[in-house]
Amino acid sequence: MSSSENFLDSVNKMFDQSADLLNLSNGLAEKIKVANSTYTVRFGVRLRDKLETFTGFRSVHSEHWEPVKGGIRYSPFASQMEVEALAALMSYKCSLMDLPFGGSKGALIVDPKKWSKKELQRITRRFTQELAKRDLIHPSQNVPGPDMGTGEDEMAWMADEYKRLHPTEIDALACVTGKPVRKGGIEGRIEATGRGIQYVLKEFFEHPEDYKKAKFSPGLEGQKIIIQGFGNVGYHAAKFLSEEEDSRITAITEHKGSVINDEGIDVESLKNHFDEKGSFEGFDGFTSDSNKILEKKCDILIPAAVEGVINLTNVNQINTKLIVEAANGPVTAEADQILCKKGVLIIPDFYANAGGVTVSYFEWVKNLTHMRYGLMQRRETERRQTALIDGLEEMMDRDFPVDLKEIIVNGATEIDLVRSGLEETMRNGYKKISRKWHADKRIRDLRTAAMVIAIKRIADSYYFLGI
Ligand code: NAD
Repeated sequence: MSSSENFLDSVNKMFDQSADLLNLSNGLAEKIKVANSTYTVRFGVRLRDKLETFTGFRSVHSEHWEPVKGGIRYSPFASQMEVEALAALMSYKCSLMDLPFGGSKGALIVDPKKWSKKELQRITRRFTQELAKRDLIHPSQNVPGPDMGTGEDEMAWMADEYKRLHPTEIDALACVTGKPVRKGGIEGRIEATGRGIQYVLKEFFEHPEDYKKAKFSPGLEGQKIIIQGFGNVGYHAAKFLSEEEDSRITAITEHKGSVINDEGIDVESLKNHFDEKGSFEGFDGFTSDSNKILEKKCDILIPAAVEGVINLTNVNQINTKLIVEAANGPVTAEADQILCKKGVLIIPDFYANAGGVTVSYFEWVKNLTHMRYGLMQRRETERRQTALIDGLEEMMDRDFPVDLKEIIVNGATEIDLVRSGLEETMRNGYKKISRKWHADKRIRDLRTAAMVIAIKRIADSYYFLGI
């Protein structure tokens, strides 16, 4: 069985365990579990004097809410099974986080490193045309976003191609999220998933009942963290946890080697090095080993690369108290059972990495309202707050402390509002999951609690549709 088959099996096994705890009407669990449709497309692009054929997928898992939402991955290893597993996770994620979307996911079998920017643009535009033909990219039907191997550029090309195909569609920009800010994107989208991981961990340490189960001392400060994957999600998680929470990032592992530093890695320096050289080689603490780093002792392990990396071959060597699944599906269902028995806590993917889709939701709403966040309130807030402070200074006959004055007077900008909305969503998410976990003795872990909430909401949605 291929690794992608295992991934879909894993997601479905985790679904079954949770669905069994709910008294769903006959056949409903099966209906929720399976993908509604998966479209495969093969198209040609003439590149370097040769007609290259590409294969892409867009899977729609559940349309209980529309549009459906989910990223597009560029990877030489993409497959239908993988896309279906990822689409299912999107349904559970949006349901759990109360976002008004069904679940979808897309992929293109391509190695983005093999092609120039210009060539990738032509490939992406052709893929978009194929998706648009079937409304698999559409502001009110199906809204892609970035995932592994894609980013702002691909999303901007997709939005532009969609706009060319629908020149009179006023909401055309809402057909895809993760665009550059100057092309209809939103401040804070790039950092959103990594920022979300920071909020997840901050909230976790607000729950003594939970962190004591894994024998943690309070607070994120000084916790030793290992991260796998130094792309969008891994880099931002490492950056915010080290710079703003004073956690110690003791190892970061990538495809071709890792960096280890028990005192804590300087994340920004490593990022500059990685961007310049394309690898960690030559950086202080470099080792060519990638595989064994996940087994190094740490307090918190954050896999932020690909699925299935913690599996039956290495699960018994994992030496951590907490795993935060920043990647989708990094722990297989079998490994999950073993870790659970050993008392290792796992914060599940479809909650932990929901920061990305949360800010994508803000971007989609921004595109539909055609107005940037904070535009109407900012100056008005500043006027009121200034009047309040002036009044206080007059009454007390003393100057208000300057640093506090600045915080109180300044109205919120788009990035302030995005971070506030993201923090609220992520923190609330953890509270709901933790509450469910402790309220029902049959629920053995955070993943089951999160899945039970997600499935129940989808089931309710079907019920109200009369299904
Ligand atoms: P990315 O392409 O920006 O980065 C992934 C990084 O992981 C790359 O640097 C790659 O070299 C590295 N990598 C790949 N396989 C590896 C391996 N076996 N060992 C070590 N490193 C490896 O991708 P990303 O956007 O950061 O996504 C990472 C994960 O997070 C994926 O599972 C994705 O589905 C998930 N995710 C991403 C977002 C988002 O907003 N980008 C949102 C939710 C979930």
